[in-house]
Amino acid sequence: MASPRPDPAAAAPGSLAKRTVRDFTFGRILGEGSYSTVMLGTDQTTGQQYAVKILDKRHIIKEKKTKYVNIERNTLNRLNHPLVVRLHFAFQDPTSLYFVLDYAEHGELLTLIRRCGQLPEVNARFYLAEIVTAVEYLHSRGVVHRDLKPENILLDRDMHIKLTDFGTAKLTDSADAGPPRANSFVGTAEYVSPELLTDKAVDRRSDLWALGCILYQLLSGRLPFKGANDYQTFQQIIRHEYTIPDDFSPAARDLVTQLLAANPADRIGAAGPDLAAVKAHPFFSGLDWRDLHLQVPPPLP
Ligand code: ATP
Repeated sequence: MASPRPDPAAAAPGSLAKRTVRDFTFGRILGEGSYSTVMLGTDQTTGQQYAVKILDKRHIIKEKKTKYVNIERNTLNRLNHPLVVRLHFAFQDPTSLYFVLDYAEHGELLTLIRRCGQLPEVNARFYLAEIVTAVEYLHSRGVVHRDLKPENILLDRDMHIKLTDFGTAKLTDSADAGPPRANSFVGTAEYVSPELLTDKAVDRRSDLWALGCILYQLLSGRLPFKGANDYQTFQQIIRHEYTIPDDFSPAARDLVTQLLAANPADRIGAAGPDLAAVKAHPFFSGLDWRDLHLQVPPPLP
């Protein structure tokens, strides 16, 4: 179970004071996950609004999810980036664990894609650039996300992304990573990489595959691999059966193809150590990569 020990990295800037549940007033429910309820919470001291993720201890223990909760907390604790949801405080009471997170007021990127049907290339370029920036940061901190998808990419008040959901992340450079071993299936069927299905192997290159799925989805509103059930989706992925819509520009088509390379070593950005190769792709030509989070996102249709 998460330890109640205060964590300086999770404290709000300018305040090292520890918080408890009594320091917050709770508003509406922002959403519900399989093991959590996320509520809008206001810090009574500062008036700052947060998304407070509340996890029922008994339920987590019963469902044997303690490991995932610890991974989520440990991962969030090592991350501090404007495009990644930040853990400001973590505390507990006898029944629940509380993670006090950045509040992403505009909800999930998936909802935006559904509302627009598909995003114009100028919007898809900007959002993919923010996602690439966030993922490059994660990898630099030794974190493989393993479940990148538009449900886990939230939008803040200014319509910039906040990457979230680190319950299935893998820490590659710490004691938490453990000895190398076959990976159990985590993630979401439609975004899972072929190497996980065939070799149970996952590293940062699996996140590149997911970026390819997300770019495809941003531009078309659909997924490259989508069967009637998970088994059929996996078959399509293993057989590398997908088609790119005719209306993709040549640059978009090329980037999708290079991210969705079946062999992880052939994926653009695979050589690392960063994602410079992805950023240099012509799909992003004209984009200023500096301080994306301070730019005004292109207006949506
Ligand atoms: P599951 O646990 O089943 O994978 P999940 O990861 O979406 O689901 P949570 O992380 O608990 O579960 O989030 C539940 C819902 O709460 C999300 O779908 C999202 O709509 C909302 N939510 C989560 N975090 C935030 C946040 N930081 N800001 C605003 N809304 C959030």
